[in-house]
Amino acid sequence: MFGLSFSKTLFTILVVLAVWYGYRWVGRVQARRKAELEEHMRRETRQASTRGPGGTARTAKTEDLIPCETCGAYVPAHGARSCGRAGCPYLG
Ligand SMILES: [Zn+2]
Repeated sequence: MFGLSFSKTLFTILVVLAVWYGYRWVGRVQARRKAELEEHMRRETRQASTRGPGGTARTAKTEDLIPCETCGAYVPAHGARSCGRAGCPYLG
């Protein structure tokens, strides 16, 4: 058969099979490594979103600020205190 002996044909088939299975094995290892990396990144992101820079639990607390009509300083919209200047609209 095309000048190839049985042993050469068998050897060629075995080499092709070895390359094929090696290729699939490498693909599986890469997929597993990618999945582990993504899981690791997801865990890190989750920790970063629930932990502040000091490692303490961070609460998402924001407060609106409004400028004082007298001095122009930005003060909390609720619970603002007087800046001490005459004519400041806030008490306290
Ligand atoms: Zn003021």
